[in-house]
Amino acid sequence: MAGPKSTAAFERAKRVLPGGVNSPVRAFKSVHGTPFFADKGEGPYLYDIDGNRYVDYLMSWGPLIWGHAHPQIVAAVQEAASKGTSFGVPTELETDVAQKIVDFVPSIDVVRMVNSGTEATMSAVRVARAATSRSYVVKFIGCYHGHADHFLVKAGSGVADLGLPDSPGVPKETAERTIAVPYNDIDALRDVFLERGEEIAAVIIEPVAGNMGCVLPRPGYLQAVRELTRSFGTLLIFDEVITGFRVGLGGAQARFDIEPDLTTFGKVIGAGLPVGAYGGRRDLMEMVAPSGPVYQGGTLSGNPLAMSAGLVSLNMLEAANREGFYDKLQAYGQQVVDQFVELGKQHGIPTYGHAIGGLYGLFFHEGPVYDFEGAMASDGASYERFFHAMLENGVTFAPSPLESAFVSGVHTSRELEITLGAMKAVFAQLT
Ligand code: PLP
Repeated sequence: MAGPKSTAAFERAKRVLPGGVNSPVRAFKSVHGTPFFADKGEGPYLYDIDGNRYVDYLMSWGPLIWGHAHPQIVAAVQEAASKGTSFGVPTELETDVAQKIVDFVPSIDVVRMVNSGTEATMSAVRVARAATSRSYVVKFIGCYHGHADHFLVKAGSGVADLGLPDSPGVPKETAERTIAVPYNDIDALRDVFLERGEEIAAVIIEPVAGNMGCVLPRPGYLQAVRELTRSFGTLLIFDEVITGFRVGLGGAQARFDIEPDLTTFGKVIGAGLPVGAYGGRRDLMEMVAPSGPVYQGGTLSGNPLAMSAGLVSLNMLEAANREGFYDKLQAYGQQVVDQFVELGKQHGIPTYGHAIGGLYGLFFHEGPVYDFEGAMASDGASYERFFHAMLENGVTFAPSPLESAFVSGVHTSRELEITLGAMKAVFAQLT
């Protein structure tokens, strides 16, 4: 339960912000709660304004792969700010970050910086439509690609969370150009292609779905999507806003050895500052203005504070990767998942989970979850009780069952112990 200061702060916020928040899932609606308000973060911990401390697996919804207020990232931002917060002419920092992305992700020759994941996906689709002279886009039910018009069709994350898989305000004509098919179901995708493959500009996919909880692709599925899209001249966009630099230095595409045509990023590259990016093959990216005619720009794109934070963070990831960083994160997440499943068995509560790199997901579901239907069949009421009880025990997850949990490089065995201990106590209360 939120403390008195957070409760008062939420009342005040509701008078001037829609629902009291600047992004819907922050309102704790699907767990029928009142949000706690952040005071500060320190490494793997988040402190609220009532003085409570939580082991944090929300991690600002993914960007904080180095935890809160990492000294090297804070120092880089401070130094950048002391030189000026924005210039409107190029900086070398932008090229440095772009070069890192190109070095880490083999499918990317050229990359454009933007300010959010939404901008990245929206722009990548524009490039795909221009390159193919086609208008249809295929997405997957329960995947979330930001809040641009053509993605608010059977979306996951906060959209599904509010029971709004589509949104008023999106013109019917726009929504009609988006075809949504079930995740992990290659036959359903093939059927769509057989019907109108020649009209499909792009298939956009989260290579590991992170917005219906964390759902892995079935073995061979991404390869099949790649082959199908290629055979119809459709571009494949990997939305790696969550998975980029989080499930591996080269993202999910390196882990699963797939070469998409275009890729979108966000979250981890900004280390907590507002950044997105989209990139891909040179011939496609050179269609973007001013190299080519596809327009996309941004006053604050490539902002020096964000680029400084991103560059330090990417450099740290590069070094840590040589020491098995992503395996360590995965082992951590897997231990949480294993204990969750084991406790479920002990207490007769259906439980299931996935873990990959610094990403994991917990479902109150009997058996594997491989699509949105499975995610939605998970018991929301159990998640709600689990979420609140974990908070009471000093651990925070996302305030919705349709989200992933994030492990950072500063979560240690101490935080793991706190988490596993809290879970034990909480399961005893759930039965
Ligand atoms: N794509 C994916 C996979 C996401 O998870 C998100 C946000 O959660 C977005 C795109 C949109 O990013 P942003 O919220 O930065 O606009």
